[in-house]
Amino acid sequence: VTRPRVVVIGAGFGGLRVARGLRRAPVDVLLLDAANYHLFQPLLYQVATAGLAPTDIAYPVRGALRRITNAGFRLGTVTGADLDRKVVTTAEGTEVAFDFLVVAAGARTATFGVPGADEHARGLKTLEDALRLRSHLLLRFEEAAADPGLVGEGALTTVVVGGGPTGVELAGALRELHRVLAKDFPGLPVDQARVVLVELAPHVLAPFHERLRRHAVRQLEARGVELRLGRSVAKVTPGGVVLDDGSEVVAQTVVWAAGVQAAELAAQLGFERGPGGRIVVDERLAVPGRDDVWVIGDIAAARDEQGQLLPQVAPVAMQGGLHVAAEIASQVAGTPRNAPFRYRDKGTMATIGRRAAVAQLPPGLRFRGTLGWLMWLGLHLVMLIGYRNRASVLLNWAYNYLTWERGGRLITYQGEAQDEPPDGRGPGLPPSP
Ligand SMILES: Cc1cc2nc3c(=O)[nH]c(=O)nc-3n(C[C@H](O)[C@H](O)[C@H](O)COP(=O)(O)OP(=O)(O)OC[C@H]3O[C@@H](n4cnc5c(N)ncnc54)[C@H](O)[C@@H]3O)c2cc1C
Repeated sequence: VTRPRVVVIGAGFGGLRVARGLRRAPVDVLLLDAANYHLFQPLLYQVATAGLAPTDIAYPVRGALRRITNAGFRLGTVTGADLDRKVVTTAEGTEVAFDFLVVAAGARTATFGVPGADEHARGLKTLEDALRLRSHLLLRFEEAAADPGLVGEGALTTVVVGGGPTGVELAGALRELHRVLAKDFPGLPVDQARVVLVELAPHVLAPFHERLRRHAVRQLEARGVELRLGRSVAKVTPGGVVLDDGSEVVAQTVVWAAGVQAAELAAQLGFERGPGGRIVVDERLAVPGRDDVWVIGDIAAARDEQGQLLPQVAPVAMQGGLHVAAEIASQVAGTPRNAPFRYRDKGTMATIGRRAAVAQLPPGLRFRGTLGWLMWLGLHLVMLIGYRNRASVLLNWAYNYLTWERGGRLITYQGEAQDEPPDGRGPGLPPSP
């Protein structure tokens, strides 16, 4: 007897949960992903700032599926689907047949058409992004060591665009990296290294309570992060950024942490799309009018009961994955649930640096400082996949904390040719919608 085949595009937070949720259902699950590893994006910034190694935050998909006996993996980039024939097509030229399709391909950086951003700013979405950023930052220090005149040209300055959790966490971590680099480069005026955080809103960390936002601002300032609040980037140039008030920040590194859009696949599949290019879904997370095609996580324009778009965060993707698994299992069993997806917000956290974080939990509980930071550490450890990764992250954090060191200060992409991606598009941002 052939069992229904569930094809899941993307082995991220959402996709893996679909496989887990279907592990006892009489179906065969096939995960397709362009990468052979699951990436823990929330800690990417720590790879970029040399605090963690890539293997700490990435985990082979085949390993993650080993105990799920009805799930398999295939490496491939999906480029389209033929819904009548019920197949997806891949860039490698193969077709994969499905009975049920779950689209969980995530998001990518969005630069909203800001001139120069696609060419000169760097994203922080992939492991490649993080490793290239790390190399780029360290190379600028090496170059300045050889030619101190480059300091005046912004070699040691990073502009972080976007004051959400990613921008705040990166800015704080960069300042901690500067402390380490001051020891590495005794001949360089590392005290002139700058991190400038630009945020359109008058505050950072929009999803957080005002008091926590203020705490984050104080912590950032105490670490020497220069804040440009209520300002937007009008233009990115090879030598820095121009803000909307005409002022300029000379910087050789610009990181774009100001927005995401749906993965390219959203447009390729031809479904109706909503804000940020996200695929429109019904309240069950199915493509409207279909019982066999489901969309979860960052690539879905799912809404709550009030009609508000759900945030593009890991818990939404994970809960969506389990929900869709239950829907598919109920259909296969001949008793369709057709239940609406209800997202349970269990809280939000962001860290600014050592012993500084903000956390808020739904009943209105708020934490900050050392307690918030310990909660943040604990949650991230629990969420990582694999004992080895957890142990390694814990060891690295303890080492970094006690020694003020960053063991991963390695330049693995050197010279402009390799510093930039091979297609010559610039540092690696996709074109904006
Ligand atoms: C720097 C950063 C920090 C973040 N911090 C937090 C945080 O602190 N807390 C939080 O909750 N969330 C955070 N997020 C958001 C969180 O990572 C996402 O919401 C979550 O990863 C979404 O899960 P997903 O399953 O939808 O997509 P993803 O986890 O992104 O997985 C998508 C997968 O699809 C694959 N894929 C894409 N296109 C194709 C294709 N065409 N064919 C095959 N495979 C494809 C990708 O390779 C990827 O493996 C952060 C994100 C970033 C970038």
